Amino acid sequence: MILILKPNIDAESREFQRIAEHLKNFQNIEMRVHRVHGAEQILTEVYLIGNTAALSLDEMRSFPGVEHAVRVSEEYRVLGRHKDDSRPNFFHYNGVEFSQDNLNVFAGLCAVDSPESVEAMMKALQEHGQVCTRMGAYKPRTSPYSFQGHGKNCLPYVFELAGKYGIRVIAMEITHESHIDEIREALKQTGDSTGVMLQIGTRNTQNFELLKSVGRQQEFPVLLKRGFGITLDESLHAAEYLASEGNQKVIFALRGMKTNIGDPHRNMVDFAHIPVVKRLTRMPVCGDPSHSVGGRGRSSDNILDIMHVTAQAIVAGANMILVDFHPDPSKALVDGPQALRMNELSRFLEDVALVREAYEKRVALWKE
Ligand code: PEP
Ligand code: MN
Repeated sequence: MILILKPNIDAESREFQRIAEHLKNFQNIEMRVHRVHGAEQILTEVYLIGNTAALSLDEMRSFPGVEHAVRVSEEYRVLGRHKDDSRPNFFHYNGVEFSQDNLNVFAGLCAVDSPESVEAMMKALQEHGQVCTRMGAYKPRTSPYSFQGHGKNCLPYVFELAGKYGIRVIAMEITHESHIDEIREALKQTGDSTGVMLQIGTRNTQNFELLKSVGRQQEFPVLLKRGFGITLDESLHAAEYLASEGNQKVIFALRGMKTNIGDPHRNMVDFAHIPVVKRLTRMPVCGDPSHSVGGRGRSSDNILDIMHVTAQAIVAGANMILVDFHPDPSKALVDGPQALRMNELSRFLEDVALVREAYEKRVALWKE
């Protein structure tokens, strides 16, 4: 059961103490208190875990401090959708809204290689009115001999350039909890000129200790990639690890599943699951066409597979697109073959807008 307390009530309030006293009459009910930072106010949510069947919903709703009580009927207690559940399906971060009802594009470098590439990318994004990007500093690589990313050394110039070009949110993968501190420190040194969305890659979807550390901080939102070789349910439980530790600012990303049946694409595109994740949970959902397709193949209609797949994500209601670009893909140190070119950014965004409009028309068409 979830109790959403009235806006001015927190764990120190008398009203809260009355609820806690009442719960002492029941055995095996544990309380987990979450402070949820919304756009205008901070709300306290109390998650009751254990034998909550013994509790009466009406009685819990009648406590003076309780605004709303929800019986958790499904899995994914914190991020899932439950009956009569009015908890939000959006959050704000650094001036950008992330919601199940809108769309943000994160075009950028798979891996930061030089200040020149970063600047060319960010300049082009600003010219196109974009305020989000992706920049990989810590790269998980198949081979230990491959380029591992510039790590913390590149953070100062990445963040400074982001400030210069009005970038508000950078999706950046981390592979170890120490990277959170490195990012926080570098942001501070550059006067918090931008924001970071911590990305957990598909190879770490079930790295539970990493998930717990990332979930314990509430400063940065999280982009969690679906595990490429596990079930959707297992990946959604991974998201729940973040939320159960306190961070509900989570976006769930589909990036294709690893199977040879996906050939000639790098992974089997799974964007048909976008509406499924939106139905099961309150998380905005991202599609990553670059890591799904993995190359610059194009069909007889002259449209790149990456672009077709981007459109498929958006027409299915995706809320975020994470896509690799590079000023000179032949020189990219990671994933050059799947990078789009700077002179393709205009058409990419135009196509995105076309398909988003089609999606919005579809939503209107099916409105009751
Ligand atoms: C990435 O986005 O750079 C990446 C490594 O993705 P994935 O974890 O989906 O392979
Ligand atoms: Mn990559």
